[in-house]
Amino acid sequence: MEHMLKKSNKFLVQSRRTLEVKDGLIIVESDALPEGEKFPPSFYESKKLVKGLGLNYKKIHACPNDCMLFRKEFANKDINNYLICGASRWKNSIKKIPAKVLRHFPLKPRLQRLFVSSKTSKLMRWHYEERNRDGVPRHPAYTEAWKAFETRHLEFAKDSCNVLLGLASDGFNSFGMMRSHMVLYQDGALMVNLHVLAANISTQSKRLKHGKKFYFMGHRRFLKQGHKYRNNAKSLDGTKELRTTPSPISGSQVLKQVRGIKFTLGQLREKASGVMKNTWKKKIIFFNLPYWEYNLVHHNLDMMHIEKNVCDNLIYTLLGLGKKTKDNLEARLDLKEMNIKPSLWPKKRASGRTYLCYT
Ligand SMILES: [Zn+2]
Repeated sequence: MEHMLKKSNKFLVQSRRTLEVKDGLIIVESDALPEGEKFPPSFYESKKLVKGLGLNYKKIHACPNDCMLFRKEFANKDINNYLICGASRWKNSIKKIPAKVLRHFPLKPRLQRLFVSSKTSKLMRWHYEERNRDGVPRHPAYTEAWKAFETRHLEFAKDSCNVLLGLASDGFNSFGMMRSHMVLYQDGALMVNLHVLAANISTQSKRLKHGKKFYFMGHRRFLKQGHKYRNNAKSLDGTKELRTTPSPISGSQVLKQVRGIKFTLGQLREKASGVMKNTWKKKIIFFNLPYWEYNLVHHNLDMMHIEKNVCDNLIYTLLGLGKKTKDNLEARLDLKEMNIKPSLWPKKRASGRTYLCYT
């Protein structure tokens, strides 16, 4: 290990050129592997190998304001400005250095590669060939949404090699500790609308005056009629829930709501027009897919991360762990603001200092 570090320090000091550094790293890495390794001898060779496996990527020039990509008919380098916002395509227009580059990892060769080996190919066909063997649900193929899709697209469902794709986005920063935005696909409208999916127009959301966070109320609507929490005003937000459970909104209903919306792409976008109050801000591009309207489930929240965050906050609060507890002055002030649970409102001592009481 020591020998490796010495060697890597040496070449990092010696070489200033990127390619040499990359080649040097490869030498260090192959040193760390056991005898008889088959590591590519240079950076160039490793790139060639990755390309051969169908793992390469394409560089596409993008607008710094995210309004468009220079591809297809716009790929030509003589097009110098973004057609939507007018920003320049170049950071340096003489040397033609692009202002922003999107790295596109083409999907098809990656999927095809999974069918090259008999092992992975078997796993790719599992949803078709093995699903019904023991009836134990453990794969999205057991869900109503998957089955409904297959009923609607019989031709597609008949071929075991066909693949159903799910798109994951990490625009939420669900761990709360990633400073940089690791975004696979980020869409403000999509995320905002995750919350309104079930209750749609009647979603109750508010911003906490002191805690400065958005919160969503009215969850008791989803409990069955007669559930004891529905009538429990005192322990909750001071109201009784008398409304019925809303029925899930269908893709066709959403499409109807977004049909009239006019919006432009990119960060500099102007306010969309034709937006119904409390609903969608744009029509997402997925509606261009012929089946999207009929999907039973359009978006899912990542339950694992939500469970983790809820659990964290619960434990921090129960243990009263310093700054991480959610039972703080702001929360108590918000209770006062909402006019509920007066026994927990912040109180003042004779000295004038505020204190929080616990019951
Ligand atoms: Zn632009």
